[in-house]
Amino acid sequence: MYALTFGGKEMIEYSNVSDPQLLQPTDAIVKITMAGICGSDLHVYHGRETGLDHGTVMGHEFTGIVEEAGRDVRKFKKGTRVLSPFTTSCGECFYCRIGLTCRCEKGNLFGWVEKGHGLHGAQSQYIRVPMADSTLLPLSNDLSERKGLLLGDVFSTGYFCADNAGIKPSSVYAVIGCGPVGLMTVIAAKHLGASTLFAIDTIPERLAMAKNFGAVPLNATLVNVKEEILNNTHGRGADGVMEVVGSSATLKLAIDLLRPGGTISSVGVHTAKHFSFSPGEAYDKNLIYKSGRCPAHYYAEKLLRTEVPQRYAIEDIITHQFSLQQGAKAYEVFDKKLDNCIKAVLMTS
Ligand code: NAD
Ligand code: ZN
Ligand code: ZN
Repeated sequence: MYALTFGGKEMIEYSNVSDPQLLQPTDAIVKITMAGICGSDLHVYHGRETGLDHGTVMGHEFTGIVEEAGRDVRKFKKGTRVLSPFTTSCGECFYCRIGLTCRCEKGNLFGWVEKGHGLHGAQSQYIRVPMADSTLLPLSNDLSERKGLLLGDVFSTGYFCADNAGIKPSSVYAVIGCGPVGLMTVIAAKHLGASTLFAIDTIPERLAMAKNFGAVPLNATLVNVKEEILNNTHGRGADGVMEVVGSSATLKLAIDLLRPGGTISSVGVHTAKHFSFSPGEAYDKNLIYKSGRCPAHYYAEKLLRTEVPQRYAIEDIITHQFSLQQGAKAYEVFDKKLDNCIKAVLMTS
């Protein structure tokens, strides 16, 4: 089969690799129909994450059709349309039982093979999915592949971020970063009842989309964001700030925009060694801080039981579509935000 593999810093290769095989009776092989390129893939692409083996199949966002199910797989059979969270989960351990499926004791991230151990990814024609019954979710016919793909990662993550902010209708919120995840956070925060919601970024097209989704856009290069928030909160600051970038600067901005007793909900992946605010600042703000990897299985399953994915045009963030063969170009367009790219997907067959 063909797949996009990691060939080193900024080298994505369209490679002929061996087909995945069932290794355990609980595994399934899924024929991928659509795979996403995610901001998290760029950490690998730019060589900021070290340790990934050359030849690892990239990617962790996908929808597909079950091609082959191991003999102990009960919920899925050949031909079932599925989506997948970006990690596997067992459904039975302490963390799975409390809904923190991203910390499953047996779980792994797709697209991460280090020293020969781990799971290959989804930017490929086929993928092996361990613990298929508790990892995969059925994708009903009334949901498009695009919606299914976003449910497996960025929409669930945006929802998790908004959920952690403890949205109350009369309060004032800000989302920092209007990339794919930030835009999903805007939709989720509006859905959860945020009547006053500011969305902060520096890219006009992304801010325009945040506005379409119901937020008040603030372009950080044109306005003083802090002044705007203070003016709208009787000088107090926002009740909740959702940090969806992953930089020291935006974490510092988050605390600066927050009122005492407010909540920072951060889903940005941070690589800095220290917080960009001090324990004293946190104390003085009576800060509530929530962060972490999204338990995407828990959220996707929960959202699939509602009409939320159907109700909102979450797929509007997918601005670009490429074939698998165009993978290197797709990474370049997504990385450099060429042609106003927000989210890119790969058609794999
Ligand atoms: P992205 O890079 O596409 O979006 C970030 C946005 O923030 C961009 O639009 C950029 O213009 C804006 N931005 C950057 N610095 C800014 C600043 N100082 N002020 C205002 N705006 C600024 O990323 P994404 O795909 O939307 O992902 C966002 C973050 O979420 C990343 O760190 C990603 O790795 C992380 N993520 C986390 C999880 C999780 O489980 N917690 C899941 C998926 C992604
Ligand atoms: Zn992702
Ligand atoms: Zn588990």
